[in-house]
Amino acid sequence: MTDDFALATLLTAPHGVEGSVTAPIVQSSLFTFSSYQDFADRMSGQSSAPIYSRVQNPTVAAFEAMMAQAERGEAAIGFASGMGAISSTLLAYVKPGSRIACVEHVYPDTFRLMERLLRPFGVETTYHPIRAFEEDPDLLAGVDIAYLESPTSTTMEVMNLLRVTEHAKRHGTVTMIDNSWAGALFQHPLALGVDIVLHSASKFISGHSDTVAGVVVSSQSHIARIRDLTVPLLGAKLAPFEAFLLSRGLRTLVARMRQHEATANLFVDRLSALPQVHKIRSPGPNDVPGLTGRSGLMSVEFDDSVDIPAFCDALRHFKLGVSWGGFESLIMPARIGLAQAGEQNSMQKFGVSPNLVRLNLGLEDAEDLWADFAAALGKSQR
Ligand SMILES: *Cc1c(COP(=O)(O)O)cnc(C)c1O
Repeated sequence: MTDDFALATLLTAPHGVEGSVTAPIVQSSLFTFSSYQDFADRMSGQSSAPIYSRVQNPTVAAFEAMMAQAERGEAAIGFASGMGAISSTLLAYVKPGSRIACVEHVYPDTFRLMERLLRPFGVETTYHPIRAFEEDPDLLAGVDIAYLESPTSTTMEVMNLLRVTEHAKRHGTVTMIDNSWAGALFQHPLALGVDIVLHSASKFISGHSDTVAGVVVSSQSHIARIRDLTVPLLGAKLAPFEAFLLSRGLRTLVARMRQHEATANLFVDRLSALPQVHKIRSPGPNDVPGLTGRSGLMSVEFDDSVDIPAFCDALRHFKLGVSWGGFESLIMPARIGLAQAGEQNSMQKFGVSPNLVRLNLGLEDAEDLWADFAAALGKSQR
């Protein structure tokens, strides 16, 4: 045997680090079996060892187990993005003729999924205000899926989930909710009767604006259906390294969310004293049953005295950009969404005040953020 060949053989030997406090990153596409019988047993479903990382990977499984616990579910599946989780979940439950009832002001790409991808396949989505879901006991008659967000994207309206899931159960409607705002901490929809919880893990769960990922959490039976059907066939799987980053994010989730909340409380307090602020949209504890915290994502509506482009440009700590949930504070003016070219987006369809800005209050010092906000407002009066 040449030395090169011996080295090549050595490299295939298994390695492991015992006592590590984090899950190892198992960057392997496939997993081998020690005997013909083990392989045959696995393929016939008599064992559950990983076979191939499109459907199963130990680093991903470690994140999924943490996530199921965080969301009070039985099981979870990680995805390559929030949209990967949302589309793979919806597609496991629809067929031509299916009916979806969706909240207005849903996340813009979820709206596009319903309209551009699902509608041409014969899946009919109708959109309703939150109050209709709560107050009309027959809104869900004949509806297969209720697709919910609470709070809603941009407008931050909250829903009494207990009441809605009561109606849904009576009609046999499957309920799904995008719970990204609550960061798996401030609201646990499964405990309020919702069937399936979805997250863009790119936001609070990652917490560092360095990962795009998604996750679904539910009962064993719903998760088994998604795992059986759309996980292997659409292949929007979570990568081991991203799963590692998300597990890392989860370990500081509570500390980060408390800091976001403290800054958000300070902002709500001081914003309510400003004459230029027409409306604060920042859901907080007990606004609806089961809501236990105030996250750092909120919207503010100014009156006409504020020049919004000038305000955005005067900010120093708040950066202009999409997404949220990371360290850095961000601002997203609604008028940019309202002016977006191309087909009608959800903001244009359901309407939102052009004087609204969405804030992501990050982890910088709260007093520095407030000083920045107040100074920029002072410089942008018409
Ligand atoms: C960002 C976001 C998504 C999409 O998640 P990605 O990880 O970007 O695919 C879905 N829902 C909400 C509420 C979001 O903010």
